[in-house]
Amino acid sequence: MADYIATIGLEIHAELKTQTKMFCNSKNDPDEKRPNVNICPVCLGYPGTLPTVNKEAVKHIIRIGLALGGEIADYTEFDRKNYFYPDIPKGYQISQYKSPLVRGGSLNNVAITRVHLEEDTARSIHQGPYSLIDFNRAGIPLMELVTEPVIASAEEASAFAKELQLLLQYLGAGEANMEKGEMRVEANVSISRKSKVESRKLGLKQSFGLIGRTSSGGELVLGTKVEVKNLNSFRAVEKAIAYEIKRQAVILEEGGEVGQETRGWDETKEVTFSQRAKEFSHDYRYFPDPDLPKLILSEIPDLNPNLLKKELPEVPWVRRKRLTEALGVKTEDAEVFVRQRNWGDFFEQVISGFAGNEKLVQTAANYITSDLAGLVKGDRSATFETVDIASKIPPDNFSKLVLMVSEGNISSRGAKDILKMMYEQGGNPEDIAKKSTLLQIGSESELVGIAREVMGKHSSVVLDYKKGKEAALQFLIGAGMKLSGGSANPEALKLTFKKLLSSDGT
Ligand code: ADP
Ligand code: MG
Repeated sequence: MADYIATIGLEIHAELKTQTKMFCNSKNDPDEKRPNVNICPVCLGYPGTLPTVNKEAVKHIIRIGLALGGEIADYTEFDRKNYFYPDIPKGYQISQYKSPLVRGGSLNNVAITRVHLEEDTARSIHQGPYSLIDFNRAGIPLMELVTEPVIASAEEASAFAKELQLLLQYLGAGEANMEKGEMRVEANVSISRKSKVESRKLGLKQSFGLIGRTSSGGELVLGTKVEVKNLNSFRAVEKAIAYEIKRQAVILEEGGEVGQETRGWDETKEVTFSQRAKEFSHDYRYFPDPDLPKLILSEIPDLNPNLLKKELPEVPWVRRKRLTEALGVKTEDAEVFVRQRNWGDFFEQVISGFAGNEKLVQTAANYITSDLAGLVKGDRSATFETVDIASKIPPDNFSKLVLMVSEGNISSRGAKDILKMMYEQGGNPEDIAKKSTLLQIGSESELVGIAREVMGKHSSVVLDYKKGKEAALQFLIGAGMKLSGGSANPEALKLTFKKLLSSDGT
């Protein structure tokens, strides 16, 4: 295995969130359970119907392209990709071939070839001897993103897909839920022998291999690629690629050749299996769709990329960087806030009054990702993913709690108890602390009073301490805590004792 370098290129489809379908007025509702409700003569492919382009979908692709730093084409057109299958009622899928909306760009340091717009196919449901077709999905706007063959491992590939999913969610372009089939990943996998890594220049495309680049900068003759389909989860993406790399290495080890083909992923057996020999683009007889107008973005005011760029929200990697670098949030906490946007938004509201004080920010992050998350996880009426946290605990109250614990008015144990009460019964932390006597005595004068009383009662212990017996201090603190009924702030009390013992002659 060590003798091979893996190369992966991804093709990712994602359904876009729009009111209506790509080329007609039928509703785009991914949650519709009844089959064949959101349909019309256009998406059923009746002869004589005419498609019209959905502007909302075009806008999504432009925004995605802009966020990825790609080049937005001014001129684009739609093509017909011809093939026969029951899920494609027209006998062709409308896609973009020669003139995609977006070229270039990158994500997670992976170069992107193109992003284009097409329509989804109907859903086939295989039931015993029958195959049923649900046309609700036919014609839903679909993004296709293609990467360059530059991904080096299964983990990198799945990280790419995860980041893309987040981006689509941040942009409001789609939920991209893989389990629901809203995002579908196809992985092209090939391996090359390390000994074939050469630095000499070769032509760009060999008979069966592209020239890629190794991490060390050398050029690499890419092996024959295998395309793996039906990857319905990030786990499947990782497992299938890892499996495929091993499978190909074994073939080469045994002196065989990897055949160019399309393989499926068997979720239960965790193996890839041959589906069909690879089809080539000329098989599809692509040609520009004569029913659709060419798109010239500069002629459509609300699709002007320069204006759309100004409206882009903060993207996941920018938020991640801002949280860790500008605010000092720990990497793991920042990752929770980036991935779980509702939690990130709550966190940002909580810290909005902390003026960037790093200690307060970190305390807030810690209480949110560990204690509050723990409460939500233990709450049967809420889920971590969907909970509306601010409606359970107003961010202002959470900020107060963080301030109280940071200032030593409550212990961290007390803060956890108060938080639980805030979550379960509502209310603000100050009232709860007072009512439940969790408020700590932190004021200087009260603590001095307690310390003096203790020192008066235990003068021999005070002497021990002065003679150098460090443990005596612990005894005094214990006595002070007892005297305060457990409500003194132990750290503050310790400091008070130290101060008095070093200055006071008692
Ligand atoms: P095809 O003509 O088969 O569609 P493309 O060149 O369009 O092939 O590439 C399709 C996908 O396959 C892209 O994601 C690309 O990065 C990837 N790819 C191409 N060649 C290889 C290879 N040798 N190994 C791994 N992935 C590859
Ligand atoms: Mg291709």
